Amino acid sequence: MAEINNVLLLAGDAVLYFTALAALLRARRRIGLGAFFCALGVMHFLETYLAGILYVALPFGIVTSPGSTVLFTGKLMMLLLLYIREDALVVRQPIYGLLFGNVLLFALAFVMHQHTLVPLTAGRAADFSFLDEMGALMVWGTAILFFDCIIIILLYERLRTWLGNYRWARLALCGAVVLSFDQVAFWTGLHMLTGAGVQVLIGGWIAKMGAVALYSGMAALYLKYFEWPLARRDTRRISDVFDMLTYRERYDDLLARTGCDALTGALDRHSLESYGRRAVETAAAVGRPLSLLLIDIDHFKAFNDRFGHAAGDKALKRIATEIMGAARLSDFTYRFGGEEFVVIADGVTGTEANALGERIRRAIAAAPAGDAEWKVTVSIGIASCAKDASGYDRLFEIADKRLYQAKAAGRNTVIGERGPNEPSVRLVKS
Ligand code: GH3
Ligand code: MG
Ligand code: MG
Repeated sequence: MAEINNVLLLAGDAVLYFTALAALLRARRRIGLGAFFCALGVMHFLETYLAGILYVALPFGIVTSPGSTVLFTGKLMMLLLLYIREDALVVRQPIYGLLFGNVLLFALAFVMHQHTLVPLTAGRAADFSFLDEMGALMVWGTAILFFDCIIIILLYERLRTWLGNYRWARLALCGAVVLSFDQVAFWTGLHMLTGAGVQVLIGGWIAKMGAVALYSGMAALYLKYFEWPLARRDTRRISDVFDMLTYRERYDDLLARTGCDALTGALDRHSLESYGRRAVETAAAVGRPLSLLLIDIDHFKAFNDRFGHAAGDKALKRIATEIMGAARLSDFTYRFGGEEFVVIADGVTGTEANALGERIRRAIAAAPAGDAEWKVTVSIGIASCAKDASGYDRLFEIADKRLYQAKAAGRNTVIGERGPNEPSVRLVKS
């Protein structure tokens, strides 16, 4: 009975953990990713603490730690979710932060150990050996996490070919493979430090597999109901809509002054000329990669002629939302002309920009069109700094030339820089 109770409690822990962190992840566009990262970091501490001392009994003689079953498995699944909605560059941030913070913890504990201590009350002396052990486990755990994340991302992408849109199966399968590897690696460290037995290895593995199944279900539901609709919905908040209805003129004026385009919510051309140009110049000066994506809607004049300008405006809005949804938080989307958009992706190399362009192209081509007979698509030309050029004007010129090539190649196409083993241009088409 107590064992069943423990299973239910573990499931409850997992639901609570997932709900809280998914809510922070979902709120990233409003409050930034810092809150999500910090919460993840705090949980990391609790996870390592629990993994070293707290074990519970489950049915069939299985013994496991809520620290690794609920918190570690949860963290890995949250990082995979982060990758799916942002990208690997963003996932790298909390991992480096955790690794760096843990090494710092270890170093600070060592320095503090050198103090001459005054006991406050009897029996309350600082337990440095415990802190050292925690520090070592945390550094070890994060080092493994680094590899876990690389493997889980690669596997998730690989599984696309076989499992396509069966998202639960994809999440569960790559989670199961990586956590099996992780369980062996982490247990080896735990065994050497605390003498944990084989029972902990096996029991922990079984419990982790159960946790992966549960987390994958929650993650698949989260992606289906809380993330993808976000990309399709107008990004304006209710309060903004109220403003728009009440003080339309003031609203437009406000948007113009804040550098946003009133129809699509993207940044306007004026902003591109100032911020965009400056971003390219800064990236070139410090030697950081940057890519410029020039996006043009295919046969949009014909679309307008056939369905009218109101339908055209609606399609424009939807496409802008798709572009901003597919891009990362740090990529800036500008409405350059009537139906042309520019994305400035700072820190993104040519190869990564090809993937981003392809993601945008696919998202737009896959979105349900307003009219079943007409599929709205885009063509994209990409140029990267400093590989193609270092100045804004030249970069734009190259992206424009490649956009022209994409149109000539049949539209619904992305053309970017030449990869090491690729033909003269990169051509991606559905
Ligand atoms: P291509 O595939 O070669 O790009 O063909 P296209 O018809 O899209 O050609 P082009 O890029 O020159 O098309 C520009 C058209 O976009 C002209 C105009 O009908 C439409 N357009 C531009 N701005 C707006 C806008 O704000 N609203 C609407 N509804 N249509 C716009
Ligand atoms: Mg055009
Ligand atoms: Mg066009």
